[in-house]
Amino acid sequence: MGQHNPSIRDEALALLRGGSTNRAVAELLNVPRGTIGWWLHEDRKRRGIQYVQPTDCPICTGRDFDRSAYAYLLGLYLGDGHIISKQKQHHLSIFCGEVHPGLVDEAEWAILQVMPTPRTGRRHRNGCVEVKSFTKHWTCLFPQHGPGRKHDRLIALEPWQQDIVDAHPWDFIRGLIHSDGCRNMNWTTRTVGGVKKRYEYPRYWFTNVSDDIRRLYTDTLDKLGIEWTHCTRAGKEYNISVARRASVALMDAHVGPKY
Ligand SMILES: [Zn+2]
Repeated sequence: MGQHNPSIRDEALALLRGGSTNRAVAELLNVPRGTIGWWLHEDRKRRGIQYVQPTDCPICTGRDFDRSAYAYLLGLYLGDGHIISKQKQHHLSIFCGEVHPGLVDEAEWAILQVMPTPRTGRRHRNGCVEVKSFTKHWTCLFPQHGPGRKHDRLIALEPWQQDIVDAHPWDFIRGLIHSDGCRNMNWTTRTVGGVKKRYEYPRYWFTNVSDDIRRLYTDTLDKLGIEWTHCTRAGKEYNISVARRASVALMDAHVGPKY
C-alpha cells in the first residue's frame, strides 16, 4: 500500500466520505479496489468509527420501494416463506417447486425489487428450490417473523402492510396462490333428462393450516368480488375453493396457472 502518494489516499477518502462507491473511486484514481477498501478501513479505525453494513432496507432507510412486488412477496412469504434470524445467520427463504422454474425466477425477481443489495442464492433439495436473500432486514419487512410455526401464532398485518395489500390485492393473491395454491380441474356429475353426466370445471384451490392466513386470503378475495367456498377434506378445513365461472375467469386474468 506504500507505493501510493498520500495525496491520492486523501483524495480517495474525501470522495468516499462524499458518498462515492469504492468501485467508482478505484476507477477514477486508477487504484486497485482492495487498496481503496484498506484505506477506508484504516481511516475508520483511526477515527473510531464502527463499520455498519449499509442497507437498502426500505423500513430502516425510509426509501421508496416497489409495493406491487412487495405485495406478491408477502403472499409468497405467508404461504411458503421463512426467515432465519440468528446470531450470525440471517436470511429470507422462499420455497418453490422445481417443476415451476418460472415461479423460482419470479420469487427472486420480487426479492430484488424490494431489496436489491443483499446477496441472493438458490439451493435445490428434494424437488424444491429455496430462493434465499441474506440480510437481517427481512424481519423489518415481514414483522410476522417470530418463534415457532406460522399456524401456531397470530398472523396479523401491520397497517402499512394492509395499505399495500389494499393497493395491490391481485399481487398479494398471486403470491398466495403461487406458494400455497394451484389451478386444477375438478369434476361433478349432474343428471340431465335422466342421464348422469360428468362435468369438468377449473378451480383455484388454496390450502393453508393457519386460520389467519386463510382469512387474509378470503378477505382479499371478498374485496375483489371473488366468490369462494370453504372445503373440508379428510376432516380438515384448510382449503378454500374458487370455482364459480366468473370468479375463475377473473383469477385466470390476474393469476393463472403456475409455470
Ligand atoms: Zn431494516
